[in-house]
Amino acid sequence: MLSPIKLILLLAVIGAVYFIARKAGYLGGKSEKQNNLQGNKDGAGKESTDLVKCQKCGTFVASLEDHRCEH
Ligand SMILES: [Zn+2]
Repeated sequence: MLSPIKLILLLAVIGAVYFIARKAGYLGGKSEKQNNLQGNKDGAGKESTDLVKCQKCGTFVASLEDHRCEH
């Protein structure tokens, strides 16, 4: 017979494994999609503002200080 303590421990282990697997992205497609949507919202604005157009050669560069015009 299973004792109540063993039953609780078993449920705790199953819960922990399920939680870790879901956090790692192996289970639960819904949570994974939500994470992707949040990532896109956070990343879209940053990526679009990172590139700067060089006034001399018109090339889009991440940083004008590191950029050297080849023309
Ligand atoms: Zn340039």
